[in-house]
Amino acid sequence: MKKALQISILVLFLALVGLICFKMVSGQSAKSENRPTKVTKSVADKVVEESSEPSSSSAEEAAKPEAEPEWIKSETPIKFPILMYHHIADVVDGNTLFVPADEFKMEMTALKNAGYYTLSPEEAYRVLTTNEKPAEKIVWVTFDDGYKNALETAMPILTELGMKGSFFIITGNLGNEDTMTDGMLSELKANPLMSVGSHTVRHPDLEFSSNEAATGELVDSKKYLDNLLHQDTSVICYPAGRYNTETAGLAEAAGYKLGLTTHPGLASSVDGLFALNRVRVSYGQTEASFMTLIGN
Ligand SMILES: [Zn+2]
Repeated sequence: MKKALQISILVLFLALVGLICFKMVSGQSAKSENRPTKVTKSVADKVVEESSEPSSSSAEEAAKPEAEPEWIKSETPIKFPILMYHHIADVVDGNTLFVPADEFKMEMTALKNAGYYTLSPEEAYRVLTTNEKPAEKIVWVTFDDGYKNALETAMPILTELGMKGSFFIITGNLGNEDTMTDGMLSELKANPLMSVGSHTVRHPDLEFSSNEAATGELVDSKKYLDNLLHQDTSVICYPAGRYNTETAGLAEAAGYKLGLTTHPGLASSVDGLFALNRVRVSYGQTEASFMTLIGN
């Protein structure tokens, strides 16, 4: 009789310990959800995942619109296209900076159908610094000069397709007739697929700017965007793609991590993080010519 009592106390004790362990494990796995998974999963983790799946899946889906990609290390230096757009609108006077909305939509749909993954600036930095990528085919879609039509036309198309875009703003031109306002930048920033970078304050040719003038342009535009959007602006897109041997050092000192040029070709860390090539997309592309242009 006494032995039976001892056994039942022991069983109760073990059950309690088991329950505490289970709670600790499930708490940890919830906390580590957003971190890259390095931990090898124990049996207990698997049990927790399976048992909690039906109740938590809807909340997880709401928080994470896109599935977390699996990053794969590459044996050879990764090269990828950074697309450069300006106006997304009907062509005016044959100006090659314009791409009509239907062409832009065709191009983004072609990328999507071909399995391209669109990068954020942070993801592009990770690709270039660790030589690993989140998908077999990757692309970074960028817009220069901060035109209103890029927000009004390109953003809805990208959002509908679940694709990311980065917009490079001339902070001294905000609120002009055809350029975005502060409020529009906030609208961009509020969309989790969109990001905002600097295209300087006044769009000078940095190749021929003094170090002092270039630093002013780099620092002031970053400060403006950082304050307005509560971010750490990490990418500088050089006006007209022009820069000199000093520019990379000045940009890095100003707090940037990547610099974009207009030099044609695929982007690669081999060129340096502050001298990244881009692929200019002009109007008049067919799906076939567009895919050839980006090296697909
Ligand atoms: Zn520009």
